Amino acid sequence: MDIAARSPIGTRLNGLAAALGDGLRTHGHWVRAAQWVVVLVYSVLIVVPAVLPLPDETAHVFTHLTVFSQFVFWGIWWPFVLLSMVLVGRVWCGVLCPEGALSEWVSGKGRNHAIPRWVRWGGWPFVAFVGTTVYGQMVSVYQYPKAVLLVLGGSTVAAMAIGYWYGREKRVWCKYLCPVNGVFNLMSKLAPLHYKVDADAWRASYGPQSALQNTPPCPANGAPNTARTVRIQPVNCAPLVAMRKMEGASDCHMCGRCSGHRDAIALTVRSPNTEVVALGGHLATGWQTLLILVGLLGIAIGAFQWTVNPHFGEAKQWLAEWLIDREVMWPFAENAPWWLLTNYPAQRDVFSWLDGGLLVTYILGMGLVMGVGLALPLAGATRLLGPWHTQRFYHLSQALIPLAGCGIFLGLSALTVNLLKHEGVPVYWVGDMRLLLLVGANLWTLALAQGVCQRYATSRSRRWLAQAALLPALALVNYQWALMFWIW
Ligand code: SF4
Repeated sequence: MDIAARSPIGTRLNGLAAALGDGLRTHGHWVRAAQWVVVLVYSVLIVVPAVLPLPDETAHVFTHLTVFSQFVFWGIWWPFVLLSMVLVGRVWCGVLCPEGALSEWVSGKGRNHAIPRWVRWGGWPFVAFVGTTVYGQMVSVYQYPKAVLLVLGGSTVAAMAIGYWYGREKRVWCKYLCPVNGVFNLMSKLAPLHYKVDADAWRASYGPQSALQNTPPCPANGAPNTARTVRIQPVNCAPLVAMRKMEGASDCHMCGRCSGHRDAIALTVRSPNTEVVALGGHLATGWQTLLILVGLLGIAIGAFQWTVNPHFGEAKQWLAEWLIDREVMWPFAENAPWWLLTNYPAQRDVFSWLDGGLLVTYILGMGLVMGVGLALPLAGATRLLGPWHTQRFYHLSQALIPLAGCGIFLGLSALTVNLLKHEGVPVYWVGDMRLLLLVGANLWTLALAQGVCQRYATSRSRRWLAQAALLPALALVNYQWALMFWIW
């Protein structure tokens, strides 16, 4: 689905994109300067609020640094970084992320050990996402600056430690261990921009023709230099992408360093459906499927939902009575440290062991329920397309990426909306906007599902049946958001 191949506008857009990519490469020093500015702002916003007194009810975004930092991190940064993945790929990772910049910088001065097998384990994006999501809720990371310092600061320290030990000027943390790497990897599959590798041009860059093009003229007489060996500048791809074999946008951090490399790599415009539909057949993995079905559409929804679910309080009440009847009192103790369970007595916000246990059970339970509830219709659709094929199941699950991404954006932006409300900004338009985004995400998911089914279906009727089998999965996700935003 090469856009340039289809229209003159596509050719023009590709020209602009390639120039943009080249600009990023040639202005790399500005990119690095911008990274240090972001590092500075990020450090101030996670460290200073942690030593300030907690804000009271009257504090506002522009009157208290803690509220300001809350708004910046959870109201703007998180939802819009996520959105940027879909719009421009992982530019945030390669150009602005402070954690990646620090990890790479330390890596340049570190021990340069080989990357061990445990770091390369493919399950980290899922496990790290689930762990951070659940832990963030246990310590109320959206509300309290000490929790922010622990979660974000802890992640940054870990990124630097990994950078120090492994690789040379590389982003080993970002590639394998970052808790949001898996999410960004999935979202960037929908980006309309990617660095495309021209395999023929790459191959030709070894030949004599290319040598003539790349060799400067003889300095003595200006005659063309016919030497065959040309030293092509190596490129340091910090997130360790095998550039020659690069497919799609999900591993690439869009830093632009390889733009124009061997005259074979250029930033290129593509259809946002290309990567899922055309490449998912061999690029989709089981861990990615688990992250979509259980992580983004289960655990993340549970984490957004538990505070507004009225049945959560009822379940707690029932369990409390059951425990009291049996004289089991230790779950009511509120003695867990703040770094394990929320514990801010002055704010009258303290979790007992019962609260903590229930919230973890609720979030993980949502992961299980949604995982199974989504896997069943997906499995049905996979089977309707022909004999069972697990890779096809993985491929089909990627059609749900727009719906999963939209949900995370809506969940995160719910906090933005609350903060705006607190600032007195009118938010009457939010319900309509949510509905519009959900409808758009559903349509996009259906379009991707159609593209994927088309690749496997042996007949039109099978294709339609498989697509219809996916509808309960969409309905289940939509029902969860309807509960959260319109019913509860
Ligand atoms: S492949 Fe590597 S060097 Fe090239 S843009 Fe992506 S991250 Fe940067």
